[in-house]
Amino acid sequence: MTTIEAVQGDITRERVDAIVNAANSSLLGGGGVDGAIHRRGGPAILEDCRKLRASHYGKGLATGRAVATTAGNLDARWVIHTVGPVYSTTEDRSGLLASCYRESLRVADELGARTVAFPAVSAGVYGWPIEDAARIAVQTVRDTETAVEEVRFVLFDERAFTAFAEQVDKPG
Ligand code: ADP
Repeated sequence: MTTIEAVQGDITRERVDAIVNAANSSLLGGGGVDGAIHRRGGPAILEDCRKLRASHYGKGLATGRAVATTAGNLDARWVIHTVGPVYSTTEDRSGLLASCYRESLRVADELGARTVAFPAVSAGVYGWPIEDAARIAVQTVRDTETAVEEVRFVLFDERAFTAFAEQVDKPG
């Protein structure tokens, strides 16, 4: 049984085994939560990302996939980088957003992580409406078979927190 909770805060401060990064496919850093993770985690994370690009992901990490690196100076042991889809009004990309959560949990299982913190993937610069992003995130975690014992959604702003808390409180 995986416990799911939502809290408001800065994901870079979380004391969990793994924190998930809403990365872009280059893996070479960006703004938003990605920028915050690299700033606080230090250069070791980017170094790992560069190695991954060179060894496995020459064209970048595909949307909906996930891969782990060190967490550098963060309290977490690992950062799991996943690439969310850009929101589209003409195409349903929710399967790709769900895949981010499923793949991140699969990677967490491979690592042996028992506690994992997620941000609201795709709900920043990538434009996904927060209520829908929250519904997909919580539903997917509920539906995924995993050895992860605790999933914590860490939402930066109050609106995102409220949207996730509503989904978490809904009977699954
Ligand atoms: P994307 O490109 O996938 O939309 P963003 O980083 O732009 O990714 O935004 C994803 C979510 O992360 C947004 O809801 C944003 O408010 C939130 N966010 C930004 N910084 C942090 C942080 N330090 N901790 C947790 N969430 C954050």
